[in-house]
Amino acid sequence: MIFVIPRFYYFRVLFCLLISVGIIPPAMAKKDSPFVLSNEQTPVQIAIIIDDLGTNWLQAKRVLKLPRAVATSILPFTPHAKKIARFSKSAGHPVLIHIPMEADEKNELLGPGALTEAMGFWALIKQLRRNIVDIPGAEGINNHMGSKLTRDSREMRWVMAMLRWQDLYFVDSRTTTETVAASVATSMGVANTSRDVFLDHAIDEKDINKQFDRLIALAQKQGFALAIGHPHKETLNVLEKRLPQLKSRGIQLVPVSQLLNRQTRNVKLMTMTGME
Ligand SMILES: [Zn+2]
Repeated sequence: MIFVIPRFYYFRVLFCLLISVGIIPPAMAKKDSPFVLSNEQTPVQIAIIIDDLGTNWLQAKRVLKLPRAVATSILPFTPHAKKIARFSKSAGHPVLIHIPMEADEKNELLGPGALTEAMGFWALIKQLRRNIVDIPGAEGINNHMGSKLTRDSREMRWVMAMLRWQDLYFVDSRTTTETVAASVATSMGVANTSRDVFLDHAIDEKDINKQFDRLIALAQKQGFALAIGHPHKETLNVLEKRLPQLKSRGIQLVPVSQLLNRQTRNVKLMTMTGME
């Protein structure tokens, strides 16, 4: 299939390129900042993203019955991607695009729409744009795999330039501790946040419950925390049981977009005090 981009897009992509190589400083490129600092005291908040959605409609249907603050993150070009995006939107769930990015290993699991280092600027930008177009109504992206690509600041600048143009935010799944994705996003004025806890590295309800406890402990410590989980039945069993209990513990479940500014404020405070 041939992918045709209307001519005016090339000007916008050129603009992105100029931003990405630093010819246009991001601050000059766009005046309105997505970051709003607030002195208001906010309650302890957690946000949850369920990603790897798109191949299994029955799993997705169960995810869509969770509280609507839970975000769905959908793999592009998967059989049920568009349907899940549509149902998520109409049920009030935030929709993210789960962008496959090159990993250090097991790249055979990336699936369609993957971004890799070997692609170069134009191919990467075009593929990212196609991925975005495939999932209508998305408000942000997070990386699927990506332990290799998210370490590379050049490719991350290209990705963030596109997100800035498309007004999408970025959630760093943090599949490597050496990721530069969130810091590149911040430097380019792209609203972003990062995953604190993976709920289901081990697909076992006991372990998932422990990870959920970790999520709450972290949120109580830093004021907020973000978890990523997957649509395994064990994960959904735990979430269905524990999400309704949050309120009585004084914890608010919020859409991931509500953590963007708070994470940024935290990063700024940490930078000011010299902490890593
Ligand atoms: Zn994934």
